[in-house]
Parts: sequence; structure tokens; C-alpha cells
Amino acid sequence: MMVNCAVASCKNTSAKISKDRDGITFHRFPRDTERRRQWEVAVNREQEWAATSSSTVCSEHFLATDFYLTDNGLRRLIINAVPAINISVCQVPEPTISKLPPIDINPADTEEVIQLKHKVRRLEIIAEDRKRRLNLMWQRKKRLRKKLHRMKCLLKHLVEVKKAKEVES
Ligand SMILES: [Zn+2]
Repeated sequence: MMVNCAVASCKNTSAKISKDRDGITFHRFPRDTERRRQWEVAVNREQEWAATSSSTVCSEHFLATDFYLTDNGLRRLIINAVPAINISVCQVPEPTISKLPPIDINPADTEEVIQLKHKVRRLEIIAEDRKRRLNLMWQRKKRLRKKLHRMKCLLKHLVEVKKAKEVES
């Protein structure tokens, strides 16, 4: 059965996309009413729109840290994941799990080695996400510094104006 992504602006369908080629997967809406509602709101469709049992959202709308791999290498979402990125054209496009290179598994790898490789990948994703957040914090700090500098200049200017007026009177 063909599935398509429920995000209004997303054109991904299972007919066009394959996990192996594109690294994109489709994920069904949660059964839990409350979390299901959160997803329905998140996909940015008309107010009355409701998901069906076959509605899905593609992996391009979740943070890489929202995923984990099952013991047999299937990609699953953590329980409280909600679609949050690449939803509206107004959002800054965010990198997703599909942009990560596939895990390199050799035929000679033991089950244990494969598990470890999956664990390493998971840690890589977390590290990447922290790096991104840290970068955003740095940018924010830089902006605040600039703002502070502008405010100081303005204050200095105001003090000078006040002094000049005092001299005049
Ligand atoms: Zn999508």
C-alpha cells in the first residue's frame, strides 16, 4: 500500500522514496489520543483534519535524536517524539537523520559488533545535536553582546547630551 506524508507541504510518498536509497522512513500516528492530537496539530493542515489508522509522517520532520534502532536494525521513534522540523516553508530547513551516512556493516561483523556500531551512531547523532544547540547559543550570545554594545553607546550619547544641556542652562 502506498503511504504519503501527512505534512501539508511535504511531497514524500512511499512510491517515490525508499529507506535504502533516500534514508527516509514513514511513521504512523500514535494511537494515544493526546499524542495523536499533538501530531495532527503539528502537521499544519486544516483545522478539521484528522489522521486515519494509515496516516503517516515521514522522518524528515523529526529530529535525528527522536529515533532509535531496534535490535534488528529497524528505525523507530521514541515515545514522545512530535513532528517539529521542515514543516512549513517559513522554517529554516533543518538537517535530518536521512542526511547521515548509513552504518557500515561488514559480513564478518558479529552481532555484538553490529550492536556497538548502532550505539556509536546513536551517540554521533546526540553529539551532532548538542553541537548544533551550542552553535545556536553562541550565535545568540554574539547577538546579545552586539545589542549590549549598542545600548552602551546610546547611554553614553544620552549622558553627553544631558551634560551639554546642563552646561547650556
Ligand atoms: Zn514528510
